Amino acid sequence: MIDLVLLGCGGNVPMPNRYLSSLFINYQGRKILIDCGEGTQVSMKIKNCGFKNIDLICITHLHGDHIIGLIGLLSTIGNSSRTEDLTIIGPVGILKIINAIRVLVPYLPYNINIIENPRGNFSIINKYLKDLEISTLELEHSTECIGYSFYFRRKSKFNIEKAINNNVPKVLWQKLQSGQNIIYNETKYTPDMVLGDNRKGIKVSFITDTRPLSSIPDFIKDSDLFVCEAMYGDDLEISKAIKNKHMTFREAANLAKLGNVNKLLLTHFSPSLEDPYFYKNNATSIFENTIIGEDRLELKLNFLD
Ligand SMILES: [Zn+2]
Ligand SMILES: [Zn+2]
Repeated sequence: MIDLVLLGCGGNVPMPNRYLSSLFINYQGRKILIDCGEGTQVSMKIKNCGFKNIDLICITHLHGDHIIGLIGLLSTIGNSSRTEDLTIIGPVGILKIINAIRVLVPYLPYNINIIENPRGNFSIINKYLKDLEISTLELEHSTECIGYSFYFRRKSKFNIEKAINNNVPKVLWQKLQSGQNIIYNETKYTPDMVLGDNRKGIKVSFITDTRPLSSIPDFIKDSDLFVCEAMYGDDLEISKAIKNKHMTFREAANLAKLGNVNKLLLTHFSPSLEDPYFYKNNATSIFENTIIGEDRLELKLNFLD
């Protein structure tokens, strides 16, 4: 199971009742953060998210509403007595930003590994996140911006019949199940000799801030959850969306439909959008399974068996 908390659903500036962009993912007790707007750590504190086990922070772009919370957060992670490496992924310029933050918070008890401007699919070399595959997509915003998709792989089930049919000695079953290749009595044994069919994992996609692109539906294809920016609720604000390189509810819903996702979560609302629910129908008329984001909204995604 994967637990998610939308820590903040605001764009541009924080409001008294709306924090800035950030999504928290808890996967088997290890934590991932996507974007870190001002106030992120306060929202985390309210939800008791915990700071020590944050292994990965993914930054979409370097606008303040997505990164200003990093200064306090990195310091708080340090105070949580974390000593293991932390990985931060971001667009071109992320290294410079982290170096600048290090001037303000020079004494951190952990190392920061920075992955600047990654392309395509990759995995993080971290013993806790070895089942996680990350993909990135170049978006269209007023600065370089990255879309993320996270695929949590699921191990295949042990298949007793297969193990017996392949004459695998019982003493090797457990090791093979954990994915190791073994040479035993001069015979090579591989995990596929005891494992059943692949099981479907969980895919979470995160797209903000951008115009809708023709490359997005394929990138978010079949996501269990598609988190998408929806700066403007009213269709009449489309010219603003085009000018400021953002999206309307309708545009976000259209991407969800084209990408055949399971659930759409709208976020990154304009400060001028006081009541996002008022415009919900602009999204649900296109994609029914739409959730309007709220600060500290919790979602759970389960692996199917
Ligand atoms: Zn933004
Ligand atoms: Zn932006």
